[in-house]
Amino acid sequence: DGSVSAESVPSLMKHMPLCMNRLMQGVMADHHLKYQGRQQLSLFLKGIGLSAEEALRFWQMQFTSGPGSMSIERFNKEYKYTFRHNYGLEGGRINYKPWDCRTILSKPRPSKNEYHGCPYRDLHRDQLADQLQKMGLDQGARLDDVLELSDRGEYQVACTKVFELVHREKIDTLLKNGDTVDETSITHPNLYYSRSLYLES
Ligand code: SF4
Repeated sequence: DGSVSAESVPSLMKHMPLCMNRLMQGVMADHHLKYQGRQQLSLFLKGIGLSAEEALRFWQMQFTSGPGSMSIERFNKEYKYTFRHNYGLEGGRINYKPWDCRTILSKPRPSKNEYHGCPYRDLHRDQLADQLQKMGLDQGARLDDVLELSDRGEYQVACTKVFELVHREKIDTLLKNGDTVDETSITHPNLYYSRSLYLES
C-alpha cells in the first residue's frame, strides 16, 4: 500500500468499515483506547500503509492532545512499547498481521467504554441505526435490511451490503463502463478499505 501519514488518518475514515470508524471515533473522543481496541485499530492502520514511525506519531498525537489527555512521558513509558511491538520492533519481533473479521469476532466482546469488535454484532439496534445514518444511509427499507442481517448474525453480509449502499453510485458507473467490480463478501476490514480506495481512484 501507499504511505500514509499520521495526520492524514482521520481523512481516510470515509474508506474505513464501521468497526474501524468506531475505534477512530473512540480514540478521538477519549484520547485513549483499551487494549483490544488498540490492537484492532493499530494493526488495521499498519495494513493501510502507516509506517512504524508514523504510527507512533499518530498514537502519541491521539493519546496526548486534547482535554484530559495523558502526558507524553506517560505515553512513552506505558504505551510506546505496545505500538512498536505490533510492528515487530520489540519483544519476539513477530510481524503481526491485521485482524480479519473472523479474528475480530473471536475476541472478547467489548464492555462499557470499549470500541473494538464488530458493530454489526456488538451495537444495540438503535445505536447501529444511528451509526449507519452517519455513514450516509437513509432511514428506510435499506437500513432495515442491514439491521435485519445483523439481527440474524450475518455480520459480514451486513457490512458488505453497507459497502454497496455507500458506494452505489461509483459501482454503478464502473459497471456501466464495462469495468469489473469485486462484489464478493467483505471478510477483512482492510479489504473494505482497499475496495473503497479503489473506487475513488
Ligand atoms: Fe469490521 Fe468485518 Fe464487522 Fe465489517 S464485518 S464491521 S469489516 S469486523
